[in-house]
Amino acid sequence: MQDSLSFDVAVIGAGPVGLACALEVQRRGLTAVVLDKGALANSLVGYPTNMEFFSTPELLEIGGHPMATLHYKPLREDALDYYRRVAQTENLTLRLYERVIGLEGKEGSFTVITDKARLQTRFVIVATGFYDLPNYLDVPGEDLPHVSHYYKEPYAHVGQDVVIIGAKNSAAKAALQLLRAGARPTLLVRGPDIPESVKYWIRPDLVNRIKEGRIGALFNSSATRITPGAVEVATPEGPRTLPAQFVYALTGYHPDFSFLAALGITCGTDAAQTPSHDADTLETNRPGLYLAGTVCGGRNTSRWFIENGRYHAQLIAARLAGEPVPALPEVLQPVQLGS
Ligand SMILES: Cc1cc2nc3c(=O)[nH]c(=O)nc-3n(C[C@H](O)[C@H](O)[C@H](O)COP(=O)(O)OP(=O)(O)OC[C@H]3O[C@@H](n4cnc5c(N)ncnc54)[C@H](O)[C@@H]3O)c2cc1C
Repeated sequence: MQDSLSFDVAVIGAGPVGLACALEVQRRGLTAVVLDKGALANSLVGYPTNMEFFSTPELLEIGGHPMATLHYKPLREDALDYYRRVAQTENLTLRLYERVIGLEGKEGSFTVITDKARLQTRFVIVATGFYDLPNYLDVPGEDLPHVSHYYKEPYAHVGQDVVIIGAKNSAAKAALQLLRAGARPTLLVRGPDIPESVKYWIRPDLVNRIKEGRIGALFNSSATRITPGAVEVATPEGPRTLPAQFVYALTGYHPDFSFLAALGITCGTDAAQTPSHDADTLETNRPGLYLAGTVCGGRNTSRWFIENGRYHAQLIAARLAGEPVPALPEVLQPVQLGS
């Protein structure tokens, strides 16, 4: 298929895994288009300014292209520049700021429906990640303008009270950065402690700042209401009100299950609502429609990430090209992120 709206493979999502899928498919002589509702690597564009990845550079590479960085761990900006260069070097066909909204037809003759066009394709790979939909607290005031589910940088918060809801890596890093930029951060933590899963180079820093009293922390506590200058909190000692000119609710994200349903993908009844797919081939319940990357894990968003999800690309591309599917049992096992 060669005209401008016909391809062998349509990849939905221009994140690291979607890009890896497209380049692996192209290298096997098939045509591919990558569609994204936002920018190239849109999720990474939304990550905090100068965010340091947990993974070392070689673990984020796709297609064998080396990721050059001056840092031991790449920054968001290194990765953004890297994935853009890979897309250009591999001459990938990109359709950005074009949202996929539906899929008609069947394997061999799909029509991908976007908000701008209808594209013909034989196969479809869904690599839509998880970063677009926050896990809401469902408390009154969560939609106020000073509340965000995406932390970017601390500089707007100098001299301000900032409540951070959550206690995973993103919340821990935000609290530390806010403190060092002159804000007054307080962490609101549902559990009894900062979880052991917080990275070993971040957790002691945070725990010691809490012990010093420079970062406030309320444990076994949860927000009940957000108002324009405060967060009302249920604590074991009773209700409290924390002053807050800004609130970051960093309680995770989840895949767009209604979009998956619109594509005809069924999801499990397990806690992760795992989208149905064959673990060996990554083909979904709809023949010819594949899953790749983080979306495979459903709500378990730490099951697949760039380090291991990038290998989905080789597996799917080999299958679509009729090659023997590579045996990748070790790399396809979940690994400790950044280990
Ligand atoms: C703060 C943070 C730090 C991280 N650090 C690491 C790390 O160190 N190492 C690591 O391996 N992983 C890390 N991860 C996880 C990693 O970034 C994700 O697992 C990775 O982005 C997944 O890649 P992906 O291609 O599957 O999905 P994404 O990068 O999320 O890409 C999905 C794309 O699909 C697009 N999309 C969604 N719906 C549609 C639609 N309907 N139509 C068109 N396009 C659509 C989105 O706009 C997006 O661009 C980190 C995550 C976060 C949040």
